[in-house]
Amino acid sequence: MTKGKLFVISGPSGAGKGTICKEVLDEGRNIKMSVSMTTRAPRVGEIDKIHYNFVDRDSFERLIEEDGFIEYADVYGNLYGTPKKDVLGWMEQGIDVILEIDVQGAMQVRQSYPSGIFIFILPPSIEELRKRIEARGSETRETMARRLGMAMEEISSIGRYDYRVINDDLKSAIGKVRAIITAEQCRLDAAEAEMIVNRYKEEL
Ligand code: 5GP
Repeated sequence: MTKGKLFVISGPSGAGKGTICKEVLDEGRNIKMSVSMTTRAPRVGEIDKIHYNFVDRDSFERLIEEDGFIEYADVYGNLYGTPKKDVLGWMEQGIDVILEIDVQGAMQVRQSYPSGIFIFILPPSIEELRKRIEARGSETRETMARRLGMAMEEISSIGRYDYRVINDDLKSAIGKVRAIITAEQCRLDAAEAEMIVNRYKEEL
């Protein structure tokens, strides 16, 4: 059976990866997005089990001990992780999966799932990123400097990704991510090639 593919999307906060992922999913392909678990508190408008599975630190650590995560990382002092259960089940059923996770988590996935496809979303410039974060209105001068520093740190890891998409225009960035996914869904490997040949032969 052809298993689902694993798409990993990273990029600094404010690059627009959340919006892009949502649009790609809304198109209704054979693709799902994993809901991460986090110890951070919900923001206004965030719904438990939809945006994140919000848990306390003890519950998160218990799942680490049970080897229940594909990856997990400490981001801005909170724990974030991708539970194995849904993701592996979907892939087994041939459904593709998107993970929207930070660079540390993505590199853990690279180790355990080298056949994953790694996409990095970039803001057009640091100046533009600053404007976008400012527009959210939740940052002080210090937290802004920290966010931009973290963004630069994430961008420094871009060489470890397979694709890069610059989000200068949202519509075009969404189109590019869709194109990458479509191309990867059409990619052949030896096992699939053999399966296709056999299927066509059977019909002869
Ligand atoms: P936020 O708190 O703004 O929702 O997310 C902060 C960062 O954590 C973002 O870069 C986001 O991609 C990342 N993140 C969200 N879920 C996960 C996860 O399951 N694992 C890892 N490693 N990072 C995550």
